[in-house]
Amino acid sequence: MECDLGEVLIRRKTIQDRVRELAFDIGSAYGDRDLVLIGVLKGAVVFLSDLIRELPVSMATELDFLAVASYGTSTESSGVVRIIKDLDVDISGRNVMIVEDIVDTGLTLSYLVSILREREPAVLEVCSLLDKSARRKVNVDITFRGFEIPDEFVVGYGLDFSGKWRNLPEIYTLKRKD
Ligand code: 5GP
Repeated sequence: MECDLGEVLIRRKTIQDRVRELAFDIGSAYGDRDLVLIGVLKGAVVFLSDLIRELPVSMATELDFLAVASYGTSTESSGVVRIIKDLDVDISGRNVMIVEDIVDTGLTLSYLVSILREREPAVLEVCSLLDKSARRKVNVDITFRGFEIPDEFVVGYGLDFSGKWRNLPEIYTLKRKD
């Protein structure tokens, strides 16, 4: 399927303001406890890099990344997920937060939560910039959520379509090319 950019769904300033609020909420919840932030590659990279710079400077944070490959089409995840880059950090006994770009069906996140839980972190929470809850197939707990969005495929601010448009500073819908 060939697609073009559609409308701007979330403007740059709105994203910045919300990221700042999320960082404030995370800072208030954790205080001076340490936190391992786990970015899910590649989509969450832009969000995570903005988020950590808004966290209180006094907060002891560590960063790590996971990369997963989801078997599916470019706009539909199949729920079958394979880890292609595992963590470097040992998370046992640590406070851990998975940072996601978007939760759609919830299948990817529920898989990630289940494998990370086996490593016995002290706390395991989730922060997702976007939530497309209308499409949820499995129940997942999102502690910190940026925006609830409608059932539309979106790109920009780290999110791609076939590797394109991650660099856009705003979040756009897609439209089918005629
Ligand atoms: P889920 O397993 O929750 O259905 O999907 C999770 C993954 O599918 C996300 O991390 C993201 O990579 C991809 N995804 C789901 N919805 C969208 C979307 O609207 N835009 C983009 N670019 N990726 C999406």
